[in-house]
This record gives sequence, C-alpha cells and structure tokens, in this order.
Amino acid sequence: MATDLDIARAAKLLPIQEIASRAGIPAEALEPYGRYKAKIGLDFLRAQEGNRQGALVLVTGINPTAAGEGKTTTTVGLGDALNRIGTRAMIALREPSLGPCFGVKGGATGGGYAQVLPMEEINLHFTGDFHAITAANNLLAAMIDNHIYWGNELGIDARRISWRRAIDMNDRALRSINAALGGVPNGFPREDGFDISVASEVMAVFCLSKDLADLQDRLGRIIVAQSRDGRSITARDLKADGAMAALLRDALSPNLVQTLEGSPALVHGGPFANIAHGCNSVMATRLALQLADVVVTEAGFGADLGAEKFLDIKCRSAGLAPSACVVVATVRALKLHGGVAKSALGTEDVAAVTRGIANLARHVQNMQKFGLPVVVALNKFTTDTDAEVAAVRAAMAKLGTEAILCTHWADGAAGAEELAHAVKRIIAEGRAKFEPLYNDHLSLTGKIETVAREIYHAAGVSIPPPVAAKLKKFEEAGFGHVPVCIAKTQYSFSADPTLMGAPEGHILPLREVRLSAGAGFVVAIAGDVMTMPGLPRRPAAEAIGLDAAGRIEGLF
Ligand code: ADP
Ligand code: MG
Repeated sequence: MATDLDIARAAKLLPIQEIASRAGIPAEALEPYGRYKAKIGLDFLRAQEGNRQGALVLVTGINPTAAGEGKTTTTVGLGDALNRIGTRAMIALREPSLGPCFGVKGGATGGGYAQVLPMEEINLHFTGDFHAITAANNLLAAMIDNHIYWGNELGIDARRISWRRAIDMNDRALRSINAALGGVPNGFPREDGFDISVASEVMAVFCLSKDLADLQDRLGRIIVAQSRDGRSITARDLKADGAMAALLRDALSPNLVQTLEGSPALVHGGPFANIAHGCNSVMATRLALQLADVVVTEAGFGADLGAEKFLDIKCRSAGLAPSACVVVATVRALKLHGGVAKSALGTEDVAAVTRGIANLARHVQNMQKFGLPVVVALNKFTTDTDAEVAAVRAAMAKLGTEAILCTHWADGAAGAEELAHAVKRIIAEGRAKFEPLYNDHLSLTGKIETVAREIYHAAGVSIPPPVAAKLKKFEEAGFGHVPVCIAKTQYSFSADPTLMGAPEGHILPLREVRLSAGAGFVVAIAGDVMTMPGLPRRPAAEAIGLDAAGRIEGLF
C-alpha cells in the first residue's frame, strides 16, 4: 500500500502563484519560498482589514490514542470536499514540530489522499518560522544571563528566573541543566532547562498576535523572573522586545501551501495544546476568513483540551465566532475507549465500540455548551465493520447529532462530500450562537473550576495552598480577567491518562500555575505535563534518511 510519503511524492504540484490566485491573493502579495511555498506580505493582510468574513469551522476530536485520530487528515479532506462541491474554502493548520516528527507521532500534514504539500518541507524546516521563534526565545534567555553578568541593575533573583531556553527537538537530556559553568568569565552558574520550542510562550504570543505592533507589545509583557524585592521582571525591562520582534517579523507572515487536490491552505504557527492554546496563528485564521467563504481549522489533542482552548482563548482574544464544529472519531479509538486491547483492534467488537461512544458523546455535548452545532466525522479505517459504524450512527442519532462516515483518507475529497454538504447546511441554517464557557470577570479559580466541572466532568479541583496564593497574587497584579489554559494529559477527561471513556467524579489535581502575561493567559498544570518530551526507545528518526537520488525516505 502507498505510504503518505509515496502519495505526496507522486503528486503534481501547481505553482504557488496559481494557488494564490485561486484564493484571491495577487502575485505581488507573495514572497515565494521556492516554487510551492510562499509567505503572504503583511501589507496585503492590512489591506484586507474590514473585508467581509467567511464562516469558521472547527475540527476537533475525541481523546486521542497513540496514533492520532485523523483530525488533520479530516481538516484537509473537508476543505477539499467543500471546494469540490463549489464552496470557496481555505484550510488553516498548525506547522509541525520536529519533536513529534522524529519521535512517535510523525509529521502533521494529514495522511492518505488528504494531505498538504510539499509534505517533506512542511514537516522539516518549512519557511523557518520555528527557527525564528526558537531564536527569539533564546535571545531573551541570553539577555537575562548577560544582564546579571554585567552587574544586574534590575536586581534579578537568579534563583527565580522562570524563562527557559528552547529547542525544537525531543531531548530529555536538556530538561534540567546547570548553566554558566566554567568560572568567572562565563557568568553566574545556575540551574536552567530547555522546553521544546512549541511550548515556549514566544510561540503562544506569535500565534495570538493580531499584527506586528501587538506582537512586540505582547513580547514586552512576558515575565521572565522575579527581582530580589519581589517585582516581576519583563522582557521589556530587559529591552529585549524590539530585537525579538525583529527576529520574528518575517515569520509573522502566514505561509501558503496547497493540498493534494489544489485547495489553498495556510499553515502557520504551532503551539502545544496543553501548556499553550494548540491552534494555528490568529493572523492566518483572520486572513483566511477574509478570503474564503468557509475556513476549516483544527485544534490539537481532544476537544477537552484543544477545542476548549481554541474557543475560550483564541476565539475570545481574536473576536472569532465559529459556525460549526466537527468532532472526529474512529471506530478503532472508540474500541480503545471501550477497553479493548491494542492487539485486538482488528476484530469486530460492537459492544466495545458502544462502551467507547461515551467518550465521543461527552465531547459532542461539551461543544454544544459553547453554542456550536456539531457533526461527527467518522474517519474510516479499512478494519471498520458495517455493524460497528451503524452502532456509532445510532448512538449519535439518539443525541440528535449526525455521524457521517468519511473516506477522504482513501478517496480524497470525494470521500468527504457528505460531510461537506452537512457542514454547508449547518452554516446556511445559521444555528451557531457561540459563547465562551465563562466570563472574563469570573475569578481565576472559578474559571479553572468551570472548565473542570463542565468539560472534564470532575467533581472538583484540588488546589494546594501555595498554588491558591499564587492565583491570588496574579489577580492582585491585574491578571484576574485573563482566560485559563489548563495543561493535563490528552488521553483522558481526567488528569489520569489511564482513565479512558467518560470518567466522572474525579478530582483535578492542580500542581502549579504560571502566568503567561504576554500570551494573556494563566497556565494551570494538573498532573504530569511535559514541556520537553523525550524520544521513545525506537524513535521515528531511525527510519528516516535519503535514497540514492537524495529524496527523503521514512517520514510519515
Ligand atoms: P491527528 O491530527 O488527529 O493527530 P492525523 O490526521 O495527523 O491525526 O493522522 C494521524 C495518522 O493517522 C496519519 O499518519 C494518517 O496518515 C493516519 N490516518 C488518518 N486517517 C486514517 C485512515 N482513515 N486510515 C488509515 N490511516 C489514517
Ligand atoms: Mg493533527
């Protein structure tokens, strides 16, 4: 069978100018990176301000299992299918990170016959945005240590530096390090560490910024440390915000690419969906909405993490209001949620699917709490049986929700036509009444409790006294109005990754809170959350290489 890479390689790509022209972007607005990728000039973006807005469709999913459920694949398939039925659609996705690419998950350009191209380039260096973000992060880190080296005018407490260095790699060896060793000329030794670049606050800031001025303003607000007398030290105090914005200027232009079927796709920015908000840049989403009639976009992980943050953080901050929500599920993943072992996934098991549907049903009902009409996309795998698919359909029908079997992975746009018609109908009916889950003026604790209760179905939140005190301090410092970004495992509604299905009555154990003052949210960490992942025993990198013709092999 053809791999994702085989299919991507066999595709005949159109020049990026032609894709741009389909999207209504003139050639003068393009900054081509080679023949099949282009950045779109910020002047063009400014000129679109005030244009009418298309409809925004969010693609999200059930709690993921190890391999991914096909949200990206479905986002691409739906975008292609909408174009196929005559709707002007654009796709807005995150840029892949090198960590998962060389680790377990692989790339993030979709799969089968629903992919964005050029696959190898988007998954590896693409247009260099992540390198720019990494550089901006590390410039700030270097300026902190340099400031201390040259006399520490701001009185930074070297034991209370919260800013960490970043690299776009899974490298557990860098999680905790000693820095500035080697004597007087190298500075003051201190404990430090690295996060993966997609977990950096610079990434979150980059993705939430509305323009260059907003970018620099948010960068300046980033808090990097506390002083000896308890003041928050910001990037602006260190005069780092200007140079960081300069490093990011070109990266802030959205990247245009194409799908296998020639749909225009903006692939831009890529924050984690636990420690950050997990969706592509505001700049790209807004531009797409100004150009297309329908924009299909994806939120990372399951709907409890990615979609909740997309709606409560990104949509709130950027003033976006989605028209419809697609929840992606697979029969295989529902079986896992129903307690089946991974090795038994190939055997028909309607009872297990039925048990696992509890997970899907809760996500559907959660999205309805935001006022969004929901349709379920059942992403078909070859092992799915008719009886299993019928069980999902029947259970969703009981909830008044349509579940549509989609075969875009095998058949491209044609396989998602029915889904495209359903989404188009929902948009035309104008049923969406989007409201974020909570109001700005609710306390930070109240916001965390609301998400835990309403979305995770937790009985409550346990907040250790020092954490409660920190939340209070954030409120006193004027940050009580910001949304919360809850970081917990993606595998369960609870903080325990082994609790599959739809657990109830659990307690969300808050471990730590951090203020991301630049991004504009408070990160609340529950359970073990990794800001620097490690590689598995057999990383995907071992199988990646070049063939005799210099083509990349083994990427998936
Ligand atoms: P997500 O965005 O939910 O993490 P992806 O869309 O990236 O998931 O898909 C994860 C992997 O699963 C990809 O390698 C993709 O090729 C594969 N995949 C997706 N849909 C199918 C399908 N219907 N059949 C087989 N493989 C699939
Ligand atoms: Mg994805």
